[in-house]
Amino acid sequence: YKEVRLILGDQLNANHSWFKTKRDDVLYIIAELHQEMHYTRHHIQKIMCFFAAMERFASALSQAGHQVLHLTLDDTQEFTQLNELIAHCVIEHQADRFSYQLPDEYRLRRQLEQLTLSGAEIRRYDSEHFMLGFEELGDYFQADTHHTMEQFYRKMRRRFDILMDQGKPLGRQWNFDKENRNKLKAEDIKALPAPLCFDNDVKAIAERLARHQIKTIGKGGPRLLWPVTRKQALQLLEHFCNHLLPLFGTFQDAMTCHSDAQWSLYHSRLSFALNAKILHPMQVINAAIEAYHESEGRITLAQVEGFVRQILGWREYVRGIYWLNMPKYGHSNALEAHQALPEFFWSGKTKMNCLQHTIGQSLDYGYAHHIQRLMITGNFCLLLGVDPDQVDAWYLGIYVDAIEWVEMPNTRGMSQFADGGIIATKPYCAGGNYVNKMSDYCKHCHYKVSEKTSSSSCPMNSLYWHFMDRHREKFGNNHRIGMIYRNWDKQSDEARQAVLDRAQWCIDNIESL
Ligand code: FAD
Repeated sequence: YKEVRLILGDQLNANHSWFKTKRDDVLYIIAELHQEMHYTRHHIQKIMCFFAAMERFASALSQAGHQVLHLTLDDTQEFTQLNELIAHCVIEHQADRFSYQLPDEYRLRRQLEQLTLSGAEIRRYDSEHFMLGFEELGDYFQADTHHTMEQFYRKMRRRFDILMDQGKPLGRQWNFDKENRNKLKAEDIKALPAPLCFDNDVKAIAERLARHQIKTIGKGGPRLLWPVTRKQALQLLEHFCNHLLPLFGTFQDAMTCHSDAQWSLYHSRLSFALNAKILHPMQVINAAIEAYHESEGRITLAQVEGFVRQILGWREYVRGIYWLNMPKYGHSNALEAHQALPEFFWSGKTKMNCLQHTIGQSLDYGYAHHIQRLMITGNFCLLLGVDPDQVDAWYLGIYVDAIEWVEMPNTRGMSQFADGGIIATKPYCAGGNYVNKMSDYCKHCHYKVSEKTSSSSCPMNSLYWHFMDRHREKFGNNHRIGMIYRNWDKQSDEARQAVLDRAQWCIDNIESL
């Protein structure tokens, strides 16, 4: 072969310009790497998703007439590092050129930059996935600077002319959040559509993982419900547009542990297919907008706008924040949080129903929706003051869609405020009241959400005030939070102390909660 081209596990983009022409002198390599098994402890379904999707992508490419080498963990076991494997393949196939698509993860990008090959030229290509090209990110983002997602999103709407009407936002409003965000009532729970789950055979992958003693978390195998081919991803997208989009925004923030409820509510569960680049963001946005136009009013603008904002707005935004701030971002700890992540994050064994349910679901499916991630597990870590390194490691492992460029700004930035306000202007923190407003978790909980100081009081309540109190210097002058401190100050010293004492007890006895 003249050229060896590397395809990473999250670069399964069949529309990449690489594949426009068939060339006998180009060898594509798709490899299961041992180094990728160990940078954090992954959910077993996450590894299965990637490995199964890589395998299917390799076989689709070869059916289309490309030369492809698919290497399993068995084939790559003597190479602890990606670069050793590349050097080996280039020599073995006598290639005089090695090409790769720029990785989206800082760690892998640096690693590949350090690659040296004697006698072979190295070429880099764009992954052709995101709405914004990598070199454009600097036009939208600056390092160490707060950028408002909403402003960025409006620029993106204008630039790509999405949901626009003669230069103005369709419906004369950029954002319909006020109409969204309802709680699920009993009749809503009954009406939840069943999630579309696939039945992929991943027995051989499960056996490989066992053979190589890969340590994983969560439940999984021998069947995998996540989409791993383009066809399945498109089916899931269609299912979303037909059955879930009509109420996507309405119940976007709702949570439930009702035994009749479906686990993914009205969420799309497209994040793995998007992050592995099986689907292009524009393809997903177009499908949703087309469904909206064809729905004859069944899908409202508020629903489709809410969905488009997640992909055109949030997804592209966190990527910009990540790249302009790495590698410093990965060490940020603005609130100097140093507590250990509670053990129950790995088992779900806690009497706090919201955490038990969210962690349990994450272990079962490698999935939790945004508000579960932000306001249940994330909020709890924030209130407790867990070291962001440990929070990041947990999030990076547990979700099928977890890739650092999107996981880290969401976790360290949005959820833990460890970036000191690059993403959020104030921490996303809440006590039990918020959880009670958006879910039925508190109704079935061991703890009482209406209490703050008793031994049966919801730990989130006292931890919330402990958090506010210990970070007063940081947030006291923030006009968006001032009111909260004024309410706190109105209470007697004894009343405040009782709340702080209960919080301290919770912190000291965290594993027994
Ligand atoms: P839907 O609710 O159906 O949303 C549609 C799509 O919008 C998603 O598939 C996703 O591509 C995009 N999206 C929505 N919110 C965000 C966001 N905040 N940032 C980026 N894209 C978004 N998302 C990941 O893809 N990988 C992660 O590792 C990840 N870690 C997170 C960690 C924390 C602490 C938080 C608060 C959020 C995290 N998110 C992450 C964002 C979001 O929670 C997931 O994208 C979403 O839950 C995936 O489920 P879905 O496909 O059903 O999403």
